[in-house]
Amino acid sequence: MSRTPVIAGNWKMYKTTAEAREFAAAVKNELQNVSGVEMVVCAPFTTLSVLQEALAGSKIAVGAQNIHFAEEGAYTGEVAPRMLTDLGVRYVIIGHSERRAYFNETNETVNKKVQAALKHDLVPIVCVGEDLSEREAGQTFSIVETQTRAALAGIEAGQAAGLTIAYEPIWAIGTGKSSTAADANEVIAHIRKTVAELYDGETASRIRIQYGGSVKPENIGEYLAQPDIDGALVGGASLAPDSYVGLIRGA
Ligand code: PGA
Repeated sequence: MSRTPVIAGNWKMYKTTAEAREFAAAVKNELQNVSGVEMVVCAPFTTLSVLQEALAGSKIAVGAQNIHFAEEGAYTGEVAPRMLTDLGVRYVIIGHSERRAYFNETNETVNKKVQAALKHDLVPIVCVGEDLSEREAGQTFSIVETQTRAALAGIEAGQAAGLTIAYEPIWAIGTGKSSTAADANEVIAHIRKTVAELYDGETASRIRIQYGGSVKPENIGEYLAQPDIDGALVGGASLAPDSYVGLIRGA
């Protein structure tokens, strides 16, 4: 089955509302005629509403970078899924390695967040990936498999098929050291096999799995040429309008 690739920018903790508006104005018309690829920008909470408005009428969807799993409540500083859908936000990154490393996110909280996102019709972009010592110890497959199984616990096949997984080897994030396309494809094929074991071949053939880690306009084509790679989650190279447009054109 053919899967539409999804290219998602992850702005991390960058851009004010004015900078977000400027970005939207610069890319909107450039990318008006793009087809065959889904375009997403995952931005800080403070810029989501501005981006929704500035990108209205374009094919670029807006995503967040985190959510809380509770419906609402006394959770100072947190944002609930329904607050995102209220803005028209479609996607949400869940379990990025920076959140796992600096904000104590675990496989269990990732699973709760995936469930909460799906309940509110947000499309989760679930991040999995090994660090350098795990890679060197030959644990890549087992790490991504454990993370994938945990993230999908209790999720029905129909819902799993609609979400996106991003394989991001931690040693490749923001380092300029990207995984080779063939290596990334091998790990992603393993993630797909895990999904097939958890559900069935149909679900595995529908779920989209991105690669992330030092993706740029110059190398995105190599990744997307691989049979199992269905797009990219891009940090640094998604910030400048030219570079974002380059990623989409290179896809
Ligand atoms: P990078 O980040 O493209 O800057 O390596 C990717 C990510 O963290 O999602």
